[in-house]
Amino acid sequence: MTVPAQNGSGRSDHLEFIRRAGQTTRRAIAEHTGLSRSVVAQAVSELIAQGLVVERRLVQGALRSAHGAQRGRPTAVLELAGQSGVVVAADIGHRHLTVAVCDLKGRVLEETRIPFPVDDSARATFRELHRLVAASLTRAGVGATDVAGFGVSFPFPVTKPTGMVLAPVALLGWQNVSAVEARPPGLPGPIVHDNDANFGAWGERIHGGSPELDNLLYVKLGHGIGSGVIVDGMLLSGARGTSGEMGHIQVDPHGEVCRCGRRGCLETVVAASLPDRRLAGLRVGRAIAQLSAFVDAEVVILGGRFGASDGALMEGVKDAFARFTPDNEDPSGEGAGGAAEGSPRVRIQAAALGERSELVGIIDRTLSAAWASGAGRSATRRTGAHSSWDRTNSEVVLEVPFDAERFVMKE
Ligand SMILES: [Zn+2]
Repeated sequence: MTVPAQNGSGRSDHLEFIRRAGQTTRRAIAEHTGLSRSVVAQAVSELIAQGLVVERRLVQGALRSAHGAQRGRPTAVLELAGQSGVVVAADIGHRHLTVAVCDLKGRVLEETRIPFPVDDSARATFRELHRLVAASLTRAGVGATDVAGFGVSFPFPVTKPTGMVLAPVALLGWQNVSAVEARPPGLPGPIVHDNDANFGAWGERIHGGSPELDNLLYVKLGHGIGSGVIVDGMLLSGARGTSGEMGHIQVDPHGEVCRCGRRGCLETVVAASLPDRRLAGLRVGRAIAQLSAFVDAEVVILGGRFGASDGALMEGVKDAFARFTPDNEDPSGEGAGGAAEGSPRVRIQAAALGERSELVGIIDRTLSAAWASGAGRSATRRTGAHSSWDRTNSEVVLEVPFDAERFVMKE
């Protein structure tokens, strides 16, 4: 997987690269960004001087090259400094609330999921969410002032640039709601908000375990249907931030009335057929086939309560996909995943992260925002400048050999 280079030479891009890599080298950063080694060295020096990044020197013998031969001299490995501070991630579903508290390296300190009738009322949802966040911070052993960022997902689109939640008109308790209201009053740091399927797509891309996910369609099948689209490694947002809203495409003009007020939306038709999982899969698979062809996805990931776990539903999706995908043939037989000649070249798979795809995506994007806003620097001032440098800049041997080739930019 490649990490988006974005605008390349910026200090925050270097920081982001190091954060995602966990451990990396100046050489890997230079190869990824295409910048000269001296430019990278200068940027890294600034990050080290600011206490955001530390350097570990691996002793001889700890590293092996790709060919198995040992290297002769120590290699300087870069990683984030061990800063104090946390981010809070909140996943709001149609019928549940999940809150996670993570440290600034993304390790989950506390995670709680509760059932809640979210669709009934935004006000009641936020009140419960704020209570859950406070309890989670207490259980994690941190205070509100330790928070360096807050991320929240909604089961509805969140429009740009206003940040207004675009809930169906039939949900009276969710009209004229701003996404920032989800943040508990007084919680510091940047806020990241988006539709849940967009976060799910991002979570699967970054931590889903597949090596090549630069073009993916993520479909969340829960109590509603949404999708997130990643094209060329970037999350598709759209002019108003509402791209990927597939649940309310009309598939049956004579179907039942949907919660959006129209008839026969995909969401309603699939929900009605859920007792027969295979039929539900066939119905949603047909829509997925058309959308996938449109965005030229290399992989379609099914997530959410029904998508990530159901065998019969998945089989239905695959059957409909094979039948309704236009021109879905790869004459070379060298499609993604090594498909045989004539078989679909697009992989369809269940979410590797199960029902946590959204939460993992929220955590990653909130960490990005927290580090970009200087969370690490403020934490350094609280704990004493360069203490982390002194503590970690000694020679160590990693138990797992470091693979410097892992983050080389692909062709
Ligand atoms: Zn609808």
